[in-house]
Amino acid sequence: MAVRFYCPRCWEEIEETVARCPHCGFELEDFQKQTYEKKLLMALRHPVREYRMMAIRVLGDLGIPETVTALAELLERENDYYVIREAVGSLLKVGGPEAMRGIRRLRDHPSELVRKLAHRTLCDIPSVPYTEEEETP
Ligand SMILES: [Zn+2]
Repeated sequence: MAVRFYCPRCWEEIEETVARCPHCGFELEDFQKQTYEKKLLMALRHPVREYRMMAIRVLGDLGIPETVTALAELLERENDYYVIREAVGSLLKVGGPEAMRGIRRLRDHPSELVRKLAHRTLCDIPSVPYTEEEETP
C-alpha cells in the first residue's frame, strides 16, 4: 500500500520529495522545525479522520493551554460524530470553563446524535463545576 503524504498546512496530498507544497506554498522544512505540540494542533485539520482523532486524544492527554481553543474551533467545523466524540472526551479531560462552553455549544449541533452526546455528557457531570457567571477574571 502506498503511503500518502499531506501538506501539514493545507492538507492537500503532496509528493514525499517536494520541499514546498505546490498547493499553498508551505515550506515543508518549516514544519520539521515546529514543536511536537504545534504539529499535533496542525493535525487537527488532517483529512484522514483517524489522524484527527489521534491528535485530539494526545492533545487531551498533554493538556497544553492551546488545546481547548483548538478543540472548540474543531467542533465548529467538524461533522464526523466519532471525531466529535473524541474531542468531547479530550475537552472533559482538560476541563475548565472554555471546554465546558465548547461542549455546551454542541447542544445546538445540526446532528441529533451529536446533540444527544452533548446532553448525555453534560448530564453525566455530577455538578458542572463552571458556569458562565464564574468567568470574572
Ligand atoms: Zn499546502
